[in-house]
Amino acid sequence: MHEKIKEFKILSLEIRNCKKCRLWETRAHALPAEGNISSKLMMIAQAPGYTEDRKGKMFIGPSGKKLDELLGEADIAREDVFMTNLLRCVLPHNRRPHPDEIEACTRYLDREIDLVNPTVISTLGYFPAKYIFEKFGIEDKLEFPEVCGKVFSVEGKKIIPLGHPAALLYDNSIERRMKENYKELKRLLDST
Ligand code: SF4
Repeated sequence: MHEKIKEFKILSLEIRNCKKCRLWETRAHALPAEGNISSKLMMIAQAPGYTEDRKGKMFIGPSGKKLDELLGEADIAREDVFMTNLLRCVLPHNRRPHPDEIEACTRYLDREIDLVNPTVISTLGYFPAKYIFEKFGIEDKLEFPEVCGKVFSVEGKKIIPLGHPAALLYDNSIERRMKENYKELKRLLDST
């Protein structure tokens, strides 16, 4: 355990100082992962939002509030989750990530997956799901939102794509379905 904590701290420091892609030029903070490094659940979001970038902490802005609501309703304690991002720097004007940025940054995510070795990986939004599906060789058309809440088994892990809580800030009509999907995650956790 001591070695695991040490490795996590080294990795977090590397991320904070990273300049491996253009996004370092427009960020205030690069965000390392947060949460329980012994968790069986890893949640992977896309990238920090504006508030998260300014304050240097994950999910503390409006989308964090939505995430807390979703986790609360599903009876999942946020402090029990290992929470991370596909990209560690904010995307200017909320644009889509570029392939070279994903390639540069996922070296950190890959190391976190090795370190934490979660039983369940839950991706939040399209790009994290796309990366994880490719990494684990899952062949699926990845059509959103139909794929959300479905469970894929691979290499002893369960992968469950979910919608990103930020989507609820723009579209209330998906709230009921998203809440059900997060409850599906809870059922999955209880059964593994
Ligand atoms: Fe480094 Fe990732 Fe930030 Fe790019 S997005 S500068 S690779 S931490």
